[in-house]
Amino acid sequence: MTDRCAGLFVCPPESEVTMREETYPFVARPLPYEYDGLIPVLDAETLHFHHDKHYQTYVDNLNAALADYPELQQKSLKELLVSLDKMPEPLRTAVRNNGGGVYNHELYFDSMRAPQGQEPSGELAAAIDRDFGSYRQWKDQMKQAAVGKFGSGWAWLVSSQEGGLSIVQTANQDVPNLKETVPLFLVDVWEHAYYLQYQNRRADYVEGWLRLINWRKAEKRYEERN
Ligand code: MN
Repeated sequence: MTDRCAGLFVCPPESEVTMREETYPFVARPLPYEYDGLIPVLDAETLHFHHDKHYQTYVDNLNAALADYPELQQKSLKELLVSLDKMPEPLRTAVRNNGGGVYNHELYFDSMRAPQGQEPSGELAAAIDRDFGSYRQWKDQMKQAAVGKFGSGWAWLVSSQEGGLSIVQTANQDVPNLKETVPLFLVDVWEHAYYLQYQNRRADYVEGWLRLINWRKAEKRYEERN
């Protein structure tokens, strides 16, 4: 549409607009970098399997689960995930596992970039100092949450609507409370995220992942939280 951004000083790219409005049938998003773009922390083989196989399977299974529910096909992913308690079984479990899998992987892949010594800045850096003591102390706690998550799951940095930060863990493909918190980023600690390259050394993977965080995107999510 030519008048999509009429009256706006800053026009968001089309990709960001369609991201928010995406509904059934969901389509896997391409990585926002090349498959070898996160070397040496994550190699291309790991990203190919993780993105092209694991993430794609969650997308396919979510679409299959929604195929017989036309009334849910107009809902965004977030709308589906905050209304799980209204769904009948077995749909609820299918959307919880596969819708969560899609949501979590899209944020995970979108929250990384090539390791170039990036660190937080601006409002988010100030909030980290306020809520965790320092960036270094935050890193220790984030690493502990990720390495210490028993079994398969995720460790997240989330913000309250007022801007208070916290680190949370979720199991399997569960999401945090999306009505009350704004996820800034997360780390996948399922073995499939790192096993090809790191085998059982989850701590080494998490240490590397800390260098991949795309702080500019996290800062934008933090500043735009609502
Ligand atoms: Mn994964």
